[in-house]
Amino acid sequence: MMLSKNETSPLMNVTARGRAAALDLAIATPLPQDVNVSFEFFPPTVGNGAGPFWASVERLLPLDPSFVSVTYGAGGATHDRTLEAVKSLNRTTKTEVAMHLTCAGASRETINQTAQEFVDAGGSHIIALRGDPPKGSNRYEPHPKGYAYAADLVAGLRDVANFDISVAAYPETHPEAGSEEADLDNLKRKLDAGASRAITQFFFDVEDYLRFLERARNAGIAAPIIPGILPVTDFRRISRFADRCGANVPKWMGELFEGLNHDAATRRLVAASVAAEQCRALYAQGIDTFHFYTLNQADLCFAICHILGVRPSMPSRIAA
Ligand SMILES: Cc1cc2nc3c(=O)[nH]c(=O)nc-3n(C[C@H](O)[C@H](O)[C@H](O)COP(=O)(O)OP(=O)(O)OC[C@H]3O[C@@H](n4cnc5c(N)ncnc54)[C@H](O)[C@@H]3O)c2cc1C
Repeated sequence: MMLSKNETSPLMNVTARGRAAALDLAIATPLPQDVNVSFEFFPPTVGNGAGPFWASVERLLPLDPSFVSVTYGAGGATHDRTLEAVKSLNRTTKTEVAMHLTCAGASRETINQTAQEFVDAGGSHIIALRGDPPKGSNRYEPHPKGYAYAADLVAGLRDVANFDISVAAYPETHPEAGSEEADLDNLKRKLDAGASRAITQFFFDVEDYLRFLERARNAGIAAPIIPGILPVTDFRRISRFADRCGANVPKWMGELFEGLNHDAATRRLVAASVAAEQCRALYAQGIDTFHFYTLNQADLCFAICHILGVRPSMPSRIAA
């Protein structure tokens, strides 16, 4: 419908409080089919814990992600389970599988061996990280014979195989960085060492990501910087966790979850709605690729992808 200059669209409503309604974000029109997604999973735990991992994989793979990734526990705690999971995924799916690999708590030799095992199992994409300190410790200490930082790991991996390497980026600056500039220099070092893209730490304020992207581009970083999206269902837990990650939890989020401590079903609906809105706001700014921290909660990510116009392209990518 075309309007003459002086007409206002009947859709340009004004809310009861007199504010123009943000209709472009409020109407759940599916987006054009050009959104790319990737999914991050925790490795299966032993026993019954394997269920949520495989159920999440089965649910989300039909959405044809660019890749799926499996995390590496703090201090390398899940070494065997991560490696087993990526090998299994490589055997049973056609989707690209990325393995997270960290410097923490291991020698260069051990890390290189792990990377080689991944290659031998058909892997080629590594998400190279410094890693968080092991449980019970607040301070990161490089292993005496290890890679000290992620940039060293990226360079070391180059000697093992011709990996496609992703690294971490921090829209709100890594909490241990000396300054915003130092953190951006570090990102540049990781890319210069051979990484081809960055995936961001989760963030909730779209402006934080957009400002960071602008600073990175101004600093000459041309590689893709994929926003990491964390759907939040447990506000109290995320508030505690975000502090350590250098992510700010906005006040509005606390207000959204007010009164829902004992109402998990509503919290999930709110989580899907907030994450979908965040992605739609980013999409409106030209961002069409999203990495989801699924926390092995497939239904939530499936719903968000559905809102973003990402639909199953085939019944299943898991081989029979
Ligand atoms: C997408 C993504 C996936 C993740 N997956 C995992 C995972 O599977 N397992 C896990 O344990 N953690 C994971 N993390 C968390 C990550 O390990 C932590 O955020 C960690 O604290 C930093 O990792 P990094 O790779 O960014 O480190 P680095 O890039 O090495 O940077 C760490 C800090 O050191 C500073 N720094 C870098 N080089 C130097 C130097 N030479 N001298 C002084 N300071 C320096 C940086 O500015 C920064 O403050 C992930 C994070 C992201 C964003």
